[in-house]
Formats: sequence, C-alpha cells, structure tokens
Amino acid sequence: MKNTNDNEDLIETDNYVVNKRPPISPEDRLKLWVRSGGRCAICNKYLLELNYDVNIGEMAHIVGWSTAKRSPRGDAPLPAEQRNNVDNLVLLCAEHHKIVDTPELLKEFTVERLIGHKIAHEQRVYHLTDMKADDSTVVLRMFGGIRGLSVELSKEHARQIVFSDAGKFALFPDSFDKHGIEIDLHQLLDPEDSWDAYWQMGVKLIDKSLQPLNEGIKQGHIRHVSVFTLTRIPLMIYLGYQLGDKIPMTIYQKHRGKTETWLWSATAPVEKFEYRQLASAGNDKVTLILSLSGSIGLDDLPAELKEGTNIFEVRPVDTIPNRDIFLNKLSAQNFTKTFHDLLSGLEITHKGCRQIDLVPAIPVAAAVSIGRGVMRQAHPAIMIYDRSAGIYKPTIKINGHETN
Ligand SMILES: [Zn+2]
Ligand SMILES: [Zn+2]
Repeated sequence: MKNTNDNEDLIETDNYVVNKRPPISPEDRLKLWVRSGGRCAICNKYLLELNYDVNIGEMAHIVGWSTAKRSPRGDAPLPAEQRNNVDNLVLLCAEHHKIVDTPELLKEFTVERLIGHKIAHEQRVYHLTDMKADDSTVVLRMFGGIRGLSVELSKEHARQIVFSDAGKFALFPDSFDKHGIEIDLHQLLDPEDSWDAYWQMGVKLIDKSLQPLNEGIKQGHIRHVSVFTLTRIPLMIYLGYQLGDKIPMTIYQKHRGKTETWLWSATAPVEKFEYRQLASAGNDKVTLILSLSGSIGLDDLPAELKEGTNIFEVRPVDTIPNRDIFLNKLSAQNFTKTFHDLLSGLEITHKGCRQIDLVPAIPVAAAVSIGRGVMRQAHPAIMIYDRSAGIYKPTIKINGHETN
C-alpha cells in the first residue's frame, strides 16, 4: 500500500537544512493509526480508502519536526528526539494537514489547539469502539400519513438520540440500504377521501417494510430496536402489534413541551393511570376509551359503541388528560401496566368477549406498546377507532386470529 505521507519529507525539507527528517517508527505509526480510528482528528474523514489501494491519512507533527524556521510550530520547546514520537503526531486528512501547516494560520493552529484536537478525537474513538455488539440497536422510523404534518428524523439525529438516551450505537445495516427500517407513509392518500383504502394500504406498507427486520430478528443479529414514529394512532398500534415483544425495544416520541425533543425526561412528573367502568350491560360487548393525550367523552362515541355495551375508560389519576402526559418514560410504563391489568380483569369479568372496540386518544409510546403487548392466543381482537370529521369510525382490527 502506498502511503502518501512518506512524501512529507520531500515537501517539508528545506534546501538549506542538511539533515533529512528521521523516519517515524513503525510502532508509532501503528499506534497513531489505531488511536485515531483511521480518521482525521479534525474533520473525522475516513482515511483508509480501500478502493484505491492507497491511504490518504497524513501523520502531522504538532511541534514541527525540526527547529528550522520553515518547520511549523518547530520553535516550541520539545527535544528533537521526541518530535517523531506518537504523542507529537496527529492523524489528519491532506486538506487539514495543509491548513494547520499554512504559515498565515499558525497563530490559530497552535500546539495547544492541535493537542486538544488529538486528545478529543482519540478519546472519542476509544469510547465508541469500546461498544460491544450488544450495545447496538436497529433504528426504525415510520413517518407520514397525517395531512399537513411533516415530521422527519435524519439518520444522524436518530444516532445521537439513541446514544445520549441509551448509550446505544445505532445500526443501519447494509441489507436495509444503510437506512435501517424506514416505513414511509407519505404515499398514503387522504383518509377522508377513502377511509378503508387508507388503512389497508397503511397495513400493507408496514407489513412489507418489516420483512427485513423480522428476518434479522429470526437470524439473531438484531437484538434491540429503537422505534421513532409519528402518524395516526391505529397505524402505530398496528406497528407495535407486528413488532411484538420478542426482542427489547425503546420507543421514542417527539415531546412538544417547552423545548421539542425526542429524549425522554428523567425529571418530568411520573403519571399514574387508573381504569373504571362507565357503563354496564348484561353481555360481553366491550368499548374501551383511552383518555390520555385528550379526553374522550361518551358524547363523542357513535351509537354502536355505547348502546348495550360495557364501557371502560383509562385515564390519568392526578392530572387531566393532556398532550405532555408522557414526558417521563416511567409514565409510559405505568400506563402499559394499567392497560394490561384492565385486559386481565376483562378476561375474568367478560370471558365471552371476542372483540374490544378501542377508542384511543394516546401518545405515540402508548400506541406502540399497546400493540406490542397484545397476546395473540389469550386476548380478544381489538378494533381500533379513529376520528374522521368529528366521528369515530373503525380502522384496523388486530389479533383477529388471522393466520400469520
Ligand atoms: Zn480533515
Ligand atoms: Zn506537517
């Protein structure tokens, strides 16, 4: 492999300096390349271009290699025999090497500043490469499908979020076009135009997009998933249902609070939830209202959901339903527990119930986790309702004991 860095001797040699620069030892070269992760300490460019059988990294001197005037920062007090030591070298791309050695810029690129770049870069490489395969997570993004609302999340942003929230390394595997799992619902038409077609198409898109994920889980190389989504609630419940609970997942939602963020808050209040029965009927018909991000009144329900039906409601204990109900991850966990307690209760009090009609006003994390928690054998089917022009209408049915 040709190393362009070797040419530095020629470039920097001053005709009036008799001594040629001594070579950097193989040990120091190896150490510098490994500590730098093969990347420029300033711009992080990857410097081992395997395609061209040449590496473009340059081992730049922090204190110039000689005390001659033309050697950048060469007048700093460092004994000559230590100047080729790895501690005095920083791995740079050709562009940055040129910049830091430019005479007019030497005031900016001081010894201290270059040492700062070197240390920060090498520590970052050390920290990131310390992560084990178990620290990785596959990022799943599902957006679109809500008219007039455009929320997106770049790969880079998702990477930062899973790192700061969970200390995890985001994986966008090759087999998924390096984009992780992306479920693009922007192509869905307006549900008001064609209600049933909207939901059927949404279900199809989700099923298709999840194939590589399910394959990866089956083969055992996906061990954790980070879910980022914002779309209509029934689609998020369906997503959760198809994801299931076989492998651990973290669900992220965009919090609107004072500052918009995808990160969970550790300091926001932890909400508790309770369920109660609003109406009884001498049968096993069940309507379940979830008033979390907003209140759903009985007046909002169509006749078929409230006449001759047992009506249950889940709501927060200490506060009124509101959009910021789930700032803290523990609130989401509390809701999931209450929801499952309710389902277990129904198994006893309404054994004959084959289908729950679900009317949800819930945050993203609640939607996905409801879907994930449905037990295919034990629980009844759930018909999810959503509002269209002020009226709740059926959308997607999950757990209808379909064959899959
Ligand atoms: Zn660079
Ligand atoms: Zn140099």
